[in-house]
Amino acid sequence: MGGEAAESVRTIDKYSILLPTYNERENLPIIIWLIVRFMDKSGFPYEIIVIDDGSPDGTLDVAKKLQEIYGSEKVVLRPREKKLGLGTAYIHGIKHATGNFIVIMDADLSHHPKFIPQFIEKQKLGNYDLVSGTRYAGSGGVYGWDFKRKLVSRTANFLTQLLLRPGASDLTGSFRLYKKNVLEKLVESCVSKGYVFQMEMIIRARQLGYSIGEVPISFVDRVYGESKLGGSEIFQFAKSLLYLFATT
Ligand code: UDP
Ligand code: MG
Repeated sequence: MGGEAAESVRTIDKYSILLPTYNERENLPIIIWLIVRFMDKSGFPYEIIVIDDGSPDGTLDVAKKLQEIYGSEKVVLRPREKKLGLGTAYIHGIKHATGNFIVIMDADLSHHPKFIPQFIEKQKLGNYDLVSGTRYAGSGGVYGWDFKRKLVSRTANFLTQLLLRPGASDLTGSFRLYKKNVLEKLVESCVSKGYVFQMEMIIRARQLGYSIGEVPISFVDRVYGESKLGGSEIFQFAKSLLYLFATT
């Protein structure tokens, strides 16, 4: 059999959607319902991996109920004992993912699942290594943030663009689609663990020569629960930016 034929029968693409949760009891049923709705419509095989960080609000109990409703093929639970943070949540999720593509998104309804099929389409168009949702190009935008938060995000983006020229319009966003092997390599090469992790991922991607596609997204601030971004994260961000600047 020729190489091409072998290629065409190789695998059907499967998408593992990672949902890290910390106190997302109210949001989880809606986000999962929306993911199921849009992914079923798209026709691609998928699984949703919920990585709960030992939420004290009972998010895991809600997740268990949702698993009963949608089945353990679709809703996979990979909880952790305590709050270990986002960076390691992704590493934990990747280990358990059975898809050859991985979607990373927040569980707080800031990222609308309707964009996932658009990410998939975009990825297939250019065979991109990763597709990044962007709030800062085309029809993308941010809704519900106060002035301070917008300013922080814009400034972070602007400074990073200036210092690192990464070739992507949204660096701090966290709604993305990756080829699984690419994500594994990126995670290995990333040193930061906190809020700045997303930015480092896309900068390393460019550095390692991976191709990046972009899809404009509208980002809506969370309605339920509290954001975990504070002054210490901003400080951490500035520190990491300088570190990346010095090392790349
Ligand atoms: N999250 C998590 N562990 C943490 C902090 C956050 O799993 O230690 C999850 C959270 O539930 C959400 C996503 O990570 O799904 C992004 O967090 P958040 O919305 O608080 O960040 P922000 O949007 O304010 O930057
Ligand atoms: Mg959020």
